[in-house]
Amino acid sequence: MKNFTTTNQLQQYLAQLRAGGAAIGLVPTMGALHEGHLSLIQQAQQRGETVVCSIFVNPKQFNDPKDLELYPRPILDDIKKLEQVNCDILFNPAVGELYAGNESWHLNIGELEGMLEGKFRPGHYQGVTQVVHKLFNLIKPDTAYFGQKDYQQFLVISRMVAQMNLPVKLVMCPIQREPDGLAMSSRNIHLTPDDRQHALILSKTLNWVKKNFNPNNIPQLKHDAEKAISNEPGVELAYFEIANGDTLHPADNNTQKIVALVAAKVGKTRLIDNVLIS
Ligand code: AMP
Repeated sequence: MKNFTTTNQLQQYLAQLRAGGAAIGLVPTMGALHEGHLSLIQQAQQRGETVVCSIFVNPKQFNDPKDLELYPRPILDDIKKLEQVNCDILFNPAVGELYAGNESWHLNIGELEGMLEGKFRPGHYQGVTQVVHKLFNLIKPDTAYFGQKDYQQFLVISRMVAQMNLPVKLVMCPIQREPDGLAMSSRNIHLTPDDRQHALILSKTLNWVKKNFNPNNIPQLKHDAEKAISNEPGVELAYFEIANGDTLHPADNNTQKIVALVAAKVGKTRLIDNVLIS
């Protein structure tokens, strides 16, 4: 695997690959890699692309400085994992490589920016779209792979790509879960053994809503889901929404594409999860 920390060297290498006819697949991550991240790399490989995995803990998308400080950064383990799945290229830049000092530009990504996750994490989606825009701009991938795990993030990035006519295809990959249903996340290592058990209420409740879904009963389902999660010890619900899968507005009995999304603090760790219902 080639490992680059500077954009110049990465771009020179990518130019050679492109001249040889390679298609480039980008998998942007913040590291602390798990099977979820690796599944994105495998999807790109299945499509015959040369894979660039970026690892960059983007300070701009953290609204809580403590969260940024505590974010895991096991780079040597990550390199091993990337080598095991035959990733072609790692791009692991320092903050100064991507940000030219104190930037204050803003990308207009519409109302999605302030909904659900955006409401609880002001500035988060500005940080996400800005860094993804920078990565698209300097890597110029043919395809970029993102997880359904961050469903709203996928919508926000899709909006940015559509509005700015960026020449990149986006692929959403399914959520990888632990055998007991917990969605894999870099943050799961912060869960105590007790938290780890309590966290299961999130995937259990999402599955329960999917199984019992009835378009005429959405408010009741939402209410029951909120109650089940709020009753779980050590779990503080931020939101549970049964939403239109394109707009994230609350779904009604005419909505075609529906997604249930949840965010909660389990112990000290904030987790998100979702399930597509139709
Ligand atoms: P992160 O490092 O958390 O920023 O995630 C990098 C990418 O991996 C994002 O596109 C996430 O949606 C995706 N991802 C994270 N967790 C999972 C998972 N459990 N299954 C599938 N994709 C995931």
